[in-house]
Amino acid sequence: MHTPITYLKGAGPTRATLLKKELGLKTYADLIHFFPFRYIDRTLFFKTNELHTNNSEVQIIGQITSINTVKQKRGSRLVAKFSDEFGNIELVWFQGAKWIATKLKLKTTYVVFGKVTVFNGKFTITHPELELQSEYNKSLRTAMQPVYPSTEILGKKGVSNRVLFKMMQNLFLETKGKIKETLSLEIIDKLNLVSKKEALFNIHFPKNQEDLSKAQFRLKFEEFFYIQLQLIRKNMLHKSKFKSFKFNKVGTYFNYFYKNNLTFELTNAQKRVLKEIRNDLNTGAQMNRLLQGDVGSGKTIVALLSMLIALDNNFQTALIAPTTILASQHYESISALLLNTNIKVALLTGATKTKARRLIHETLENGELHILIGTHAILQDKVQFKNIGLAVIDEQHRFGVAQRSKMWLKNKLPPHILVMTATPIPRTLAMSVYGDLDISVIDELPPGRKDIKTVHRYDKNRLSVFKFLKDEIVKGRQVYIVYPLIQESEVMDYKDLMDGYESISRDFPRPDYQISIVHGKMKPEAKALEMERFVKRKTQIMVATTVIEVGVNIPNASVMVIESAERFGLSQLHQLRGRVGRGGEQSYCILMSSFKLSADAKLRLKTMTQTNDGFKIAEVDLQLRGPGNLMGTQQSGVLNLKIANIVKDTEILKLAREFAIDTLKKDANLNLTENNIIKNTFFKIMKTQGVWSNIS
Ligand code: ADP
Ligand code: MG
Repeated sequence: MHTPITYLKGAGPTRATLLKKELGLKTYADLIHFFPFRYIDRTLFFKTNELHTNNSEVQIIGQITSINTVKQKRGSRLVAKFSDEFGNIELVWFQGAKWIATKLKLKTTYVVFGKVTVFNGKFTITHPELELQSEYNKSLRTAMQPVYPSTEILGKKGVSNRVLFKMMQNLFLETKGKIKETLSLEIIDKLNLVSKKEALFNIHFPKNQEDLSKAQFRLKFEEFFYIQLQLIRKNMLHKSKFKSFKFNKVGTYFNYFYKNNLTFELTNAQKRVLKEIRNDLNTGAQMNRLLQGDVGSGKTIVALLSMLIALDNNFQTALIAPTTILASQHYESISALLLNTNIKVALLTGATKTKARRLIHETLENGELHILIGTHAILQDKVQFKNIGLAVIDEQHRFGVAQRSKMWLKNKLPPHILVMTATPIPRTLAMSVYGDLDISVIDELPPGRKDIKTVHRYDKNRLSVFKFLKDEIVKGRQVYIVYPLIQESEVMDYKDLMDGYESISRDFPRPDYQISIVHGKMKPEAKALEMERFVKRKTQIMVATTVIEVGVNIPNASVMVIESAERFGLSQLHQLRGRVGRGGEQSYCILMSSFKLSADAKLRLKTMTQTNDGFKIAEVDLQLRGPGNLMGTQQSGVLNLKIANIVKDTEILKLAREFAIDTLKKDANLNLTENNIIKNTFFKIMKTQGVWSNIS
């Protein structure tokens, strides 16, 4: 199986080199795992009244009932009417019309094959394959013709689909009997899977749809199974390898806060998640938990309560946020929550003045400071804790692995890590990307939250939108107007923003209206000042680029206008919308767009107007963009899947995960004889594809 392709009959050094360069195929094993991406099914026959425009290739039995040459601008085309007893279609030739006309026979039964399109309101096959039925019956062909992925260069150099197909045939002849089973008998039995050998054969040479489906199922399951096995095993190893502090009591800090400072009842989801965290903190193994929850679901309070548990066990904690604005907001809201307690909190960012910084260092080191909130600044080596036991990291995708691991060096043992993210990740994707982390989900919003009413308006409706904004402002509300900022055309974006700002200034003139503006080109102090004016309600309108995307909390702002909304991705739209709806008032999101919209853009905007549920939105996002563009997938293996599809094969994925968990629960090191095959395969995969970088 490790034989280089060059030794294969029909390959040779030239083709072998091409295959390596173009498709990365080196060995027999590579080639056998190079799967067709579709099949031309010649087992099915269609009737002329069964056709759809979305049929790909079809074959039909019938007779030619008339032949016409139709003059057109240049030359002519040949049109033949092809009929069966249910109706007729047209066969069309643009090239070689004259010659073909002489060959076509009336009143003779043909098998016609080709791609159906609709032309002049009729089903049409252009340049069909046409074969006399008598010949068709005699000819030897594969029922389902595999179609392999290819490249332009391969096509040009003559390595056609046919050539590949021939090579595959030779490959199977040469390797007969050498294909080893790679799943345990137990699993094969339980799921009624076909053997590896049969699966590989049928993925290349299926006789019919059923054989193909069985082969696909088996191979997809296997692919997911070994990924899940790696992830789950990594999680288990992590737990056995990385010890951390045991927080075995809940004490005064927690209880006092819960009784006196918590003004609301936790949602059931918050309670469940808190319990999961408490359990983790008490095992002696390092917690590595991802806390997912939509904007406004109340992650902060969960984080704070977890920190109080650390305090109760005589440990310090840190909360790290990606931006200064967000860190300051956390600092303010947590300080407010902790009012009238003796818990000491400090804020450390790049902007912290030397004197304050000195005090922070001192109190951190002598243990007086309980909670340090800040930005990357916390990760600097000179920031030393007396005894840190828990680090909470907000918005995880903005932090690299290396940065997170820096927290590990701040105490004798690595502190527990809780990562919070407001970007909902579809469950199946999370399983594959973060399968080695423990995941908690807050899937419930606090009661009484009103859904944000979302509408889509075209630029020509601008006047009525502005009228609406004025009505809201009269009621005392504040408004965000956001412009897209897309790196490649920063200059253009900036111009859009400034043009927008000017036109808004005209429509909302001073002194009745005051406007703040915040964008990426401003100095941090200027930005902070503008934010401040908005927070203090000195301005009613905040014109901004997406710098406000992350986390600002201004409950009085109740309208979010997103300009050129068609240029934003779904998750970004959802994040932006989450800036409003934070107070008691009904909030609104207005998506402005031009009239010309792509199908994808339409679906994005429609999805936004239909749901406020971040997880549903993430599902649509995954379907639209595929996993490659979603957060966190870049470093994972979901992009290298050979046959399984993380969007379409979710049921198989769940099944594979169940089986992987089950296998490792019974036999963590795969030492049982019945797991021998799994063990061997697993370590082989680990050795050849080290795709699983450290995520946590
Ligand atoms: P996010 O998950 O976006 O970080 P926050 O933690 O900022 O959400 O919470 C949003 C708002 O909801 C805050 O004002 C918070 O005090 C409030 N909140 C959180 N949990 C509850 C609850 N169980 N009941 C009522 N209000 C809550
Ligand atoms: Mg938050």
